[in-house]
Amino acid sequence: MISEANTRIVYMDNNATTRVAPEVLEEMLPYYSDFYGNPSSMHTFGGQLGKKVEQARKKIALLIGASPEELIFTSCGTESDSTAILAALQSQPGKRHIVTTRVEHPAVKHLCEGLDKLTGHKHKVTQLQVESDGTIDMQRYEESLTDETAIISIMWANNETGVIFPIEKMVAIAKARGILFHTDAVQAVGKIPINMAKVPVDFLSISGHKLHAPKGVGVLYVRKGTPYVPFLVGGHQEQGRRGGTENVASIIGLGKACELVAAQLDDENTRVRALRDRLEEALMKAIPRSILNGHKTDRLPNTSNISFEYVEGEAILLHLDRFGICASSGSACTSGSLEPSHVLRAMGVPFTAAHGSIRFSLSVYNTEDDVDYVIEHLPKIIADLRIMSPFWQEALKKEGEAGSCGCGCK
Ligand code: PLP
Repeated sequence: MISEANTRIVYMDNNATTRVAPEVLEEMLPYYSDFYGNPSSMHTFGGQLGKKVEQARKKIALLIGASPEELIFTSCGTESDSTAILAALQSQPGKRHIVTTRVEHPAVKHLCEGLDKLTGHKHKVTQLQVESDGTIDMQRYEESLTDETAIISIMWANNETGVIFPIEKMVAIAKARGILFHTDAVQAVGKIPINMAKVPVDFLSISGHKLHAPKGVGVLYVRKGTPYVPFLVGGHQEQGRRGGTENVASIIGLGKACELVAAQLDDENTRVRALRDRLEEALMKAIPRSILNGHKTDRLPNTSNISFEYVEGEAILLHLDRFGICASSGSACTSGSLEPSHVLRAMGVPFTAAHGSIRFSLSVYNTEDDVDYVIEHLPKIIADLRIMSPFWQEALKKEGEAGSCGCGCK
């Protein structure tokens, strides 16, 4: 709970969801009030909205270097992921092998793990191990591919650590073997340059609410010529590729958001990256036994995942919350359970560190003041929690540091 006295909010949980940009909201509002028609209607009042949907499609295509016809609107990143993987399997019934990683978002991980139940067929799923810095060994990747592989589904950037995978190299290897490639780019689009003309993936997933558009709208990119089978079957919307009346206002909002993030990409990769780096360096300097999770440089510019050993992440979040600071422990989808994150476990982060991991994910709306505010409060929170932690006291004793004040000073 945010303390009632505290009115300040420092939002550093942008990998969970982002603020709808004011320009996006403004663009959307008339489509709830004045222009509420159905784009499939014969009358002009509804039918004219089809043009607006197509304009939005063009803006999104421009951001990722795709053709507008290659984009299908969906309800979210999860739907895009499911659609891509199931389409690849259904269009190649003889192939039942999937290559993915141990650090995928549950939208891919749980789908792949539950495929047998869902389709009634046996599937072999290879979940690639990652290195301790969250990167992938390319030789291991290459060796995992077989003639039975129907689809490779590997995320562009990890939601918990921000680690970026070498998708361009991975796709080149897949193409040489004639294997379809899907990438969950939900965290990457809008934060780093993505160009479908240069990286020939077959499927790519986008989610609106990660890039300052509203929740409840997503996109699946399907390269021209890639075999495709719809997931949601119904009306003729999206040229029969995805049934369901279009979420017109949100689609228009997503188009505007893509225009904005394209213009802000430089800011994200310079100013936001510098804010993130300053936050990370200051916290790690001020707080002993803090460990950076993820590769130092092959990382999204906005994400920092730090473990503070011998404290519980959930407890840190509650204390940050008292100051109106919003961050995550593990991923947003796993917080609420005390299981350490599957991503950190796959990276081999020790139990005592995985439990105390905090993810800060910034956006273009963050300021120097926000960073100062977190640097001002977090070291004291960790020191106070450690004083109460029997594990911390135990660790200090073991290291012959008994008698220290508990804040880690020697
Ligand atoms: N993939 C990744 C990498 C994500 O981070 C998320 C959301 O956290 C999703 C997929 C799911 O997206 P959505 O919430 O739009 O279903």
